[in-house]
Amino acid sequence: MTAADELLDDLDRIQSWHLDFYQDLHRHPELSFQERRTAGLVDDRLTELGYEVHAGIGTTGVVGVLRNGEGPVVLARADMDALPVREATGLPYASTATAVDAAGNETPVMHACGHDMHVTCLLAAAQLLADHPDAWSGTFIALFQPAEELGTGAAAMIKDGLAGRIPRPDVALGQHVMGLPHDTVASRPGAALSAADSIRITLHGRGTHGSMPHLGIDPILLGSAVVMRLNAIVSRELAPGHFGVVTVGAFQSGSKSNVIPESTTLLLNLRAYDDRTRAQLREAIERIVKAECEASGSPVPPEFDYTDPFPVTDNSPEVYDRVSAALTEHFGDKAILMEPSTGSEDFSDIPNGLDVPYLYWIWGGFDPETYRRAEAAGTLAKTIPGNHASTFVPVMEPTFRTGASAMTVAAMSYLARSAHTTDGGATAR
Ligand code: ZN
Ligand code: ZN
Repeated sequence: MTAADELLDDLDRIQSWHLDFYQDLHRHPELSFQERRTAGLVDDRLTELGYEVHAGIGTTGVVGVLRNGEGPVVLARADMDALPVREATGLPYASTATAVDAAGNETPVMHACGHDMHVTCLLAAAQLLADHPDAWSGTFIALFQPAEELGTGAAAMIKDGLAGRIPRPDVALGQHVMGLPHDTVASRPGAALSAADSIRITLHGRGTHGSMPHLGIDPILLGSAVVMRLNAIVSRELAPGHFGVVTVGAFQSGSKSNVIPESTTLLLNLRAYDDRTRAQLREAIERIVKAECEASGSPVPPEFDYTDPFPVTDNSPEVYDRVSAALTEHFGDKAILMEPSTGSEDFSDIPNGLDVPYLYWIWGGFDPETYRRAEAAGTLAKTIPGNHASTFVPVMEPTFRTGASAMTVAAMSYLARSAHTTDGGATAR
């Protein structure tokens, strides 16, 4: 029996409190940077458990520090925010909450990405560590961040001086519930989630009567040429087999058949698995847009507005080796190698900001039988809702048990007293 198993034997005792807590969070979702109620509950709980608590970091971020003698410093992170989605799960604890978004509009709110599950699982791991100090030594840091969905919450905590308030971690851990069976945990070394950018591009023409095109500069024709060229970046400029995505998600211009409008707005989304490719995509986009504007005789240079940046999630091979060995010991063949995902996360802004190696993994929230039947029939996309869908909700239990166990096992792979003696100490790096 490993030291982590000793803690997890106690999961039954603490489970009912956590499942009640989860349902309460699910009923009371909060939008990005508005996670005040959630942060307050987390603060209270960490304080009860004996953690030194730092609240209000990067707006609503909360960090609990538990010092338990000599040893490695492990930081584990959960995100707290929900989405402007109207819940359609029909669950007894479904959300009926509404909130006012950053633009001032009232919107329904739902935990459609499972962050309520992340918070609950991290609190459970935090409690198991607090209740069993004899099984480990070192320092455990439980970090709860705002606004993952905007891609800016992790960076906000770093900018607000996170590094100065906590002991320097040796390693950082993060996890996300996804459309996998609820007995399955998956990770990989290296790039696991893509970097992302959104770009708003404004192209300027000169408006005129639709019957007199020679008097104007048509921004719709200009925009069309740009869109055609942008779609050649991945196929003609990236090496074959090298991953990148350039999507034009919106093309907005004009409102009447006989008016050539003044401008066109394009909304783009980019994905890449490394910063060099990301820079290459950005450079190609700007070059093509500027050249097409020049070709059209555009009277004003185009404008590029970069928003919603997400860093690449690039797992440390050393941390992967240690944590995945522990996960395999605990979960057996249900600890699997993760396929790289084209989704994105801002988790890595925290370890990057603190200059520490990290591991991010995913686990499942759905009935394994249903999942395997759908996989065999090729109907996964229809059967298992994706994150952000109005029907996305993990099966509460055993998803909680798997997530709480994975976080505890990963943290204990560094903190267990036996983990120090086998390799001579805190060699997280
Ligand atoms: Zn999400
Ligand atoms: Zn999420």
